[in-house]
Amino acid sequence: MKKHIVLVLIILFTLSGCTFHSEIVRVPDVGLYNQSVMFNGVRYVSVLRFCDYYNLDWDWDLVSQRIEVKKGTSSVVLRPDSDLALVNNKPVKLDNPIEYKDGAAYIPVKTAIFVSEDIFGLKRPIPVRKYYRIKTIVIDPGHGGKDPGAISRYGTKEKDIVLDISKRLKRNLEKQGLTVYLTRDRDKFIPLYRRTAFANSKNADLFVSVHANASRYSQARGFEVYYLSEATDDNARALAAAENASLKFEEEIASQDGTSSPANPTAWDLLLSEHRRESRELAYYIYNMTADSLGMRKRGVKSARFVVLKGAIMPAVLIEVGFLTNRREESKLRRTSFRDKIAGLLSRSILAYKREYERTDAWSR
Ligand SMILES: [Zn+2]
Repeated sequence: MKKHIVLVLIILFTLSGCTFHSEIVRVPDVGLYNQSVMFNGVRYVSVLRFCDYYNLDWDWDLVSQRIEVKKGTSSVVLRPDSDLALVNNKPVKLDNPIEYKDGAAYIPVKTAIFVSEDIFGLKRPIPVRKYYRIKTIVIDPGHGGKDPGAISRYGTKEKDIVLDISKRLKRNLEKQGLTVYLTRDRDKFIPLYRRTAFANSKNADLFVSVHANASRYSQARGFEVYYLSEATDDNARALAAAENASLKFEEEIASQDGTSSPANPTAWDLLLSEHRRESRELAYYIYNMTADSLGMRKRGVKSARFVVLKGAIMPAVLIEVGFLTNRREESKLRRTSFRDKIAGLLSRSILAYKREYERTDAWSR
């Protein structure tokens, strides 16, 4: 009889590997855990950052709601919003559930330590503190080539205005020691998905897409900055539709050269949601530091579904520098001195964001 109780206790203890003494778990002072977030009083880290940090393979099946984390022959299956996990195919109850917020999954720090150390045997993993630095920026002048973007009644084209501003912005940022790439440096058509793919290939830390606005109403004027989100208001939706219109040019290209957009949009979405906060932060820096100094109407920081921002695996924003359909703003945007002023303010605000981002390790301390 006693033997049985002991056996049951052993089994319980083994099954509940994750569940003992939550209070005494110390958060290791390494990069991953410095980015922990609190949900219901429990410390969590993003599952994707966790996998990235420990170099684990992961597979997220949205249909069956399974996140499988693998290394060698070991595997852990987690479910968003569930406290049941499968560790090497055996069910384990977690103290706290896997949290699912804004398209990203979070694992309790305690479970993360258990999984990395006890399941995958990764004792004291590369305790290298990640340094948050912004070194490389990709600037994306909107439109180009056969896609002119907005056109004013005097024939001023968005593609030309934004290319000029982008080139000036590039020079400004380079003077500050940053590495800057343009997605195009001349009047050339570039499909939207290739713009972010380019930024990803350059390991860019920021992606900044520069556009000029248009409206059916000639009175519409002002400066606005967007970051990618699922939530969106009607105006933002209309603008996203307009800016995404160059997709129709792309379909031709795709059928011509046999290429298509990235194969795994789900994975993009998940990676992207990791950067939503930084993107929003960057959008506010640019908006607040630039709009006032330009003396432009502040139309707000908004979120919308821009195809050009989708697929960027770094913080990404889209700036609308003014309306080509507004007479006063159009005449300003045609002036070299005004474009130079915009470029100066944009670089100042990006540098201010960079300073704060680096000082606070991406707002983690
Ligand atoms: Zn545009």
